[in-house]
Amino acid sequence: MHHNGGKGLSLARRLYTSRILGLALGLICVGAAIIPLNPPRWLLALMVFNGLIWPHLAYQWARRSHTPYHAEHRNLLIDSFMGGFWVAAMQFNPLPSTATLSMMAMNNVAIGGSRFLLAGFVAQLLGMGIGLLIFFPVFIPQTSPVQMYACLPLLTLHPLALGWICFRQAHTLGKHKRELLALSRTDSLTGLLNHGGWKDALDIEFHRCQRQQGGGAIALIDIDHFKTINDTYGHVAGDSVLRQLSKMLKQSLRASDVAGRYGGDEFCVILPDVPLAHAAQAMDALRDRFSGLGYEQNPALKVSLSIGLAAFNPMHSEAIHWLNDADEALYAAKTTGRNRVICHADGLVQRVAMGAV
Ligand code: GH3
Ligand code: MG
Repeated sequence: MHHNGGKGLSLARRLYTSRILGLALGLICVGAAIIPLNPPRWLLALMVFNGLIWPHLAYQWARRSHTPYHAEHRNLLIDSFMGGFWVAAMQFNPLPSTATLSMMAMNNVAIGGSRFLLAGFVAQLLGMGIGLLIFFPVFIPQTSPVQMYACLPLLTLHPLALGWICFRQAHTLGKHKRELLALSRTDSLTGLLNHGGWKDALDIEFHRCQRQQGGGAIALIDIDHFKTINDTYGHVAGDSVLRQLSKMLKQSLRASDVAGRYGGDEFCVILPDVPLAHAAQAMDALRDRFSGLGYEQNPALKVSLSIGLAAFNPMHSEAIHWLNDADEALYAAKTTGRNRVICHADGLVQRVAMGAV
């Protein structure tokens, strides 16, 4: 037996419930129109089969198919064909006929849009054609009160069920969209924001600082000689260093700080509403703690960080200039010996010594 997951099977499951309900209610509606016409036994049997047994058969048929999605489209066309057939069998009794055809059209447009609506119409016409050939029906332009009441459950409950199914689907799609968006902004190795996600956050913070004339700092953090670590201890050890750093960032930053992985062995942090000197102290403490970390698998491994910091500068017109300041400071940290924090302030780069800028 084939187990087909995904889109097709979930469509078949959704349609199963709605078909059970729709066709059972349709049976009441069609039955009230056909029984007074003294139909042959086979037609009554067909009516009961279509209303009560077909939904289960259709579901099993779709479930066992290689492509349940296409099987369900075929099943819906059979529904439409039978709808057309019942309209002719009811001798075009206006209310039950309209109710039957429009409920099926509603299903078709909800599942397959305008093209499938059109295909459904063609199937309905074919069904009517076969019905006309069998019954030579006369047109009965009146619906009795009993027949009208028999249509009410179909006319009220079926749209409600379809509306509920569409709402649930829209809700699930919205949830998936939010999850995908979060995933597209997350670095898979560290769980921090990725390059794009962090740059968006930087833009937002830059404009907030401009509007509120606030302050804040950003830090670029780069692991020293990371290539050598990879070459000496292997990439798995390198990955574990990257994860350790991201873990330490998550633990030591405030809730309002925004950390990201800029790329490779470079990390980035936004520290809103913090004077540069305080941000430098926090980053120097991080550098100090990280350099003291031990690695179980590689006890000899010691890793140091170079960090460049820059304060928000109201003279800058774009966030990228802020980033350039931090990059210059990081470059200075690298070129003056690594394992240090350097601040970019008013065009100068200054080393953090013992917590003081
Ligand atoms: P410096 O002290 O000047 O920063 O030297 P470095 O060796 O750290 O700098 P470089 O930019 O030359 O090396 C970064 C290395 O990071 C190169 C690349 O192979 C490695 N790298 C990038 N992404 C990953 C990753 O996801 N996992 C691991 N293990 N290594 C990575
Ligand atoms: Mg590096």
